[in-house]
Formats: sequence, structure tokens, C-alpha cells
Amino acid sequence: MCQKIHVTIWNEFYHEKNNARVASLYPDGLHKAIADGIAADDLDIRLASLDEPECGLTDAVLEQTDVLIWWGHCRHADVPDEIVRKVHRKVLEGMGLLVLHSGHFSKIFKSLMGTNCSLRWREAGERERVWNIDPAHPITQGIGDYFELPHVEMYGERFDIPSDGHVVFISWYEGGEVFRSGVTFERGYGKIFYFSPGHETYPIYRDANVLRVLGNAVRWARPLIRREHICPKVEALEEIRSEDPAATARAGVVQSL
Ligand code: ZN
Repeated sequence: MCQKIHVTIWNEFYHEKNNARVASLYPDGLHKAIADGIAADDLDIRLASLDEPECGLTDAVLEQTDVLIWWGHCRHADVPDEIVRKVHRKVLEGMGLLVLHSGHFSKIFKSLMGTNCSLRWREAGERERVWNIDPAHPITQGIGDYFELPHVEMYGERFDIPSDGHVVFISWYEGGEVFRSGVTFERGYGKIFYFSPGHETYPIYRDANVLRVLGNAVRWARPLIRREHICPKVEALEEIRSEDPAATARAGVVQSL
């Protein structure tokens, strides 16, 4: 039997404690709603949040996490840089990362992208149509040509992400904008998926299509290998007949410094 995928769902967990509407939608936190919504025999899910010691992301937790899901909004700056560096390193070593909605401005997403990750937004509660533009991708399995969310916060282009992102969903909004709402990246050995639906004042993490996408993405992002990055000096496998003695001498000088 396959090993379970160890998933950690990280939530800033602020709005649920400070906004009555969000509290009524997600009384135990939206991370718990996601956990309940994607629960399956092949997943082992734990929760973590900002106010726990080390943000709930201790070395032991990160070591045991195959895929980390990240939701943050108004307290990105409160995540210590040291935690961000550790998560970044884990992604490069193979840990999968799903960044949701307002996580586009999280320190970890911006550091992995290297761009501003800015976008246009509007909170009018309008309709969103999420188009599946890569039906052969593992993340879109079980999703039709499109699905709709009746009330959302609009996220529109231009989304300032790197051009190596592979787009699997494009959203259209009632107000006229479009957005690359589902994009995959690879950094080091790690797979990253950004998925934009998820504004906290709407029950988006109770939508069957959204949960299906997240479940698919967890399985897609699971590490195939986990390996520390090293930069080894190596011996040649074959005899090198054209070796430049000067190069060898220079290397020797550098090594002796
Ligand atoms: Zn939002």
C-alpha cells in the first residue's frame, strides 16, 4: 500500500477570531474546513497557524510535511523571516506547496517567485467562472470545462508572477476582468500551485469543485524525491585526455586558499 501523504494546512487564523461573518462560515478556521473537505484515506492532515509557537511550523513538523497548504491575508508581515527561509528551503528540497487566494502576497510565495505577485482586486461579491484550460493536467481531473462560484472577491490581471508558470485555470469575472487563477511552478525539487479562489467572507472552501482541485493538487505536489541541495566537487568518470594543466593548477591554488 502506498504511504500516506502528510499534509499540513497553515492558516493565519485571524479573521475567524475577529470577524463575525467569517467566524460563522468557518467556526473552527478555514484550515479545518479545507481539512474536512479534502479528507481521504491516502492523506494524513494536520493543522498549523500563526499564533502557535514557531507558527506551528517547527523543524519536526516541516520534516514530516510532504505538502504544505498556505492561507494568509492581513498578517503576512508577522511570519518571521526565519520560518519563511526554512519553508523555502524545504520546497527546494522537494516539499510541495499550495498557496491560496491572498497568499499571493505572502512572504513565502513572493520569495519563491522573485516578483511582486501584485494583482487588481475588487470586493463586490460578483460571479466567477473558472475555466479549465488544461483538462489533461492531474490538478484538473474531475473538473468540467468550467465551474462557477456565485460570490467572490475579484482578482484580476495583471498578476505579476514569473513567466515559467504553467496555467491550468483562467477565471472570468462578472465585472469584466480575467485572471490566471490556477498556476503551477517548479522550484528546486518542489512543486508549487497557486489557486486564487478563497476569500474568507464566502463559503468557497465548502465548494465541491474547489475542494476537488485542492485534493488533486495535494496529490500532484507530493514529493517524488526529497534531497538536500549540495554543490559537490566530483571526480571524472572517464579519463580526461585533454586536461588543461593550467586549469588543474588554478583549481589547486583555489583549493589551497
Ligand atoms: Zn480576499
